[in-house]
Amino acid sequence: MLDRFAMTAHELATALKGYLIGDYPDIDVQVSERDGEHARRRVFFRSLKFGVLYPLQRYHYIVHHIPSEFYDEHLADTEWYELAPGETETDLRYPDEELVRSITPDVMRCLHGSGFLRRLDDRMCPADGSCSPESCHGDFRIARSVLAESGFSEEEHFDVFHVLMAQGGYCDCEILYNAAPESRLRTQYWTERAQHHDKGPAA
Ligand SMILES: [Zn+2]
Repeated sequence: MLDRFAMTAHELATALKGYLIGDYPDIDVQVSERDGEHARRRVFFRSLKFGVLYPLQRYHYIVHHIPSEFYDEHLADTEWYELAPGETETDLRYPDEELVRSITPDVMRCLHGSGFLRRLDDRMCPADGSCSPESCHGDFRIARSVLAESGFSEEEHFDVFHVLMAQGGYCDCEILYNAAPESRLRTQYWTERAQHHDKGPAA
């Protein structure tokens, strides 16, 4: 069925690029039309910034840059591929959601028991003033080094990070905000938020 009001593939790619270019200056967006093999339009996003991110993180960031009305109207029935340079769609590795759900309690127990969450909190929100807090770069660079210190191997990273992402931990700070209920970082966030609230909206 041809919808004469629908955007052409080129118009769609241009509009998407417009939403993303501010945070992804090198973003390349291509839209492939439906064909004999593909029942849906495919949207390919390419950026250097995706290199250190899992596909789920890439998707999470991209989708938050696109207004939901635009998404509903033009993207609801599309397939997305977020690619780093040199990757093709067959390189993208997605988790088995069922598996992630089933291993979550054990992974979280290991993360707590190994001191991972405490160490990550120490790096991002030190208890004393002896060192300065490290800031989040929208990826897992701090968590990766803390996992190594906490005795996790690189082969375990995929499962660990997908368990954390399923709880809303899409970057270093979000692990503490969303997957570590007792973190200092989270406590500090709400303390500061409450102070702003007390000062009123003009503050
Ligand atoms: Zn963050």
